[in-house]
Amino acid sequence: MATCNHEKTYSQVPPSLTFLVQNYPHIAPNNALDRSTPRCKLCDLIAAHDRATIAENPPPHINVVEQIERDIELIQELITADVATKQDKEDLTVLHEQLRDAIMLADIRIQVAWYPYWAIWGPGDGPEVLDTVFDDGEDLIDWGI
Ligand SMILES: [Zn+2]
Repeated sequence: MATCNHEKTYSQVPPSLTFLVQNYPHIAPNNALDRSTPRCKLCDLIAAHDRATIAENPPPHINVVEQIERDIELIQELITADVATKQDKEDLTVLHEQLRDAIMLADIRIQVAWYPYWAIWGPGDGPEVLDTVFDDGEDLIDWGI
């Protein structure tokens, strides 16, 4: 196993399967992992952050939520300036719906990005675990790719 130079501070044995199952029954622990061998928790954390960043800004690396928020802001400025058309106002309604959906999908992608980390170390780092995301399995996730 390659060294990462964090071992002295961050290398530790992951919690046992029994501990994870008893304390976090909604997270399926990683059964394939040798839990008697210490591993670098910081490297796992960095990998989870990297996956979450990609999940938030999926290829082609456009943050859809921010893009929709900018479009909403633009139309609101037109409305404030009293130059918005009827179409602009209709677009605003659609954009609000798109924003809600985009936020929900981003939240789900971020949860999925953190899951491998939680399956090793348990939740506690990263975003709050949304039980509802995993209750019904993967049917909720439409990657749209
Ligand atoms: Zn490391």
